[in-house]
Amino acid sequence: MQDLSARDAPPWLRPRAAYVHVPFCAHKCGYCDFASLAGADHLADRYLDALERETAAKLGEPHEVDTIFIGGGTPTRLDVAGLERLVATVRRWLPLAPGGEWTVEANPGTLDADKADVLARAGVDRISLGAQSFQPKLLTALERNHRPEEVGRAVEIVRDRFPRWSLDLIFGVPGSTLDDWRADLEATLALDPSHLSCYGLVYEKGTALWKQLQRGEVAPVVEDVEREMYELVIDRLESAGLHMYEISNYARPGHESRHNLVYWANDAYWGLGLGAAEYVDGVRTVNTRDLQAYLKRIEAGEAATGPKEQLDPEARARETAMLMLRRTQVGVDRDDFRLRTGYDFDAMFGPVLARFVAEGLLEDDGRRVRFTHEGRFLADRVLCEVV
Ligand code: SF4
Repeated sequence: MQDLSARDAPPWLRPRAAYVHVPFCAHKCGYCDFASLAGADHLADRYLDALERETAAKLGEPHEVDTIFIGGGTPTRLDVAGLERLVATVRRWLPLAPGGEWTVEANPGTLDADKADVLARAGVDRISLGAQSFQPKLLTALERNHRPEEVGRAVEIVRDRFPRWSLDLIFGVPGSTLDDWRADLEATLALDPSHLSCYGLVYEKGTALWKQLQRGEVAPVVEDVEREMYELVIDRLESAGLHMYEISNYARPGHESRHNLVYWANDAYWGLGLGAAEYVDGVRTVNTRDLQAYLKRIEAGEAATGPKEQLDPEARARETAMLMLRRTQVGVDRDDFRLRTGYDFDAMFGPVLARFVAEGLLEDDGRRVRFTHEGRFLADRVLCEVV
């Protein structure tokens, strides 16, 4: 195992990225499986104390990073004073390298000019806005509590202050048609985003929407229509200059999320806050998702992490291949794979690769392996076999 403290340790061992979680939300959306909760705003100050304490204990000293992502939850649910405290903690412990990327997630209903000013002044240069849909009936189905017009208003606030920003959309919402999805894409493109994340709805076990599905109160969009929705997003965004660079992500050249590329390269990252995952020196840990437990453990001077997971080298190599394949433009570069994992890609995946190439799901130019257009639709099946 290489020495983590070595300044020249590679980025898959020594983190050059950090994820910071803020769990507060105005309301719990029906599909949400994130570590988030409504009605806990009175705990915000205590949470920010604990977050700083956890960060200090974990890092020991400030660590320069290339990317920071503050997600949630809804970071912009914090008030101006809370946001000031949050960015001060991040700046103190995680100084951003020159040219680095600092993203904050925002909800259209909770972002205002004052909060955006706090973020911009601190050095945040990228905002990720959770739009999800522009149609009241679909926002209602998702139990989102913002209105479609609030997205446009939030974009105006963001556009004036940040060089880069992104919108999140969800397709396959129960009750939605291909025309609904087309209308959502056109409403999105009218705002001229440089980055989009478009996810097919997942009925995560235990969520309110999943319970509605179990009770037969909602019906999922049929598979063929969902495929058409995915096809539409790829084609329409491509024609608008937003290229797919990951299974669910699209960007103008140079506007890709550098932080998310860290995850898809299987590089190391710090994870701080409720439910935050971390990957350091080949070891994965996840903090508790129970807010009271998180606060009590950190306040008692304990770590808030659950069990550690250390993958053996072969499992880590398989996971690396699976993550790298998600990058639809880059795919797996054989030399990079060998450098990072110590394994030869063909020795590990030769028969699987040959079969998927023969089926037309993967393409292989001798240096790189990546999904074909058809392969993107069956990505889950391919990735499952790889890992
Ligand atoms: S705003 Fe985001 S994190 Fe909060 S409940 Fe909704 S989906 Fe979950």
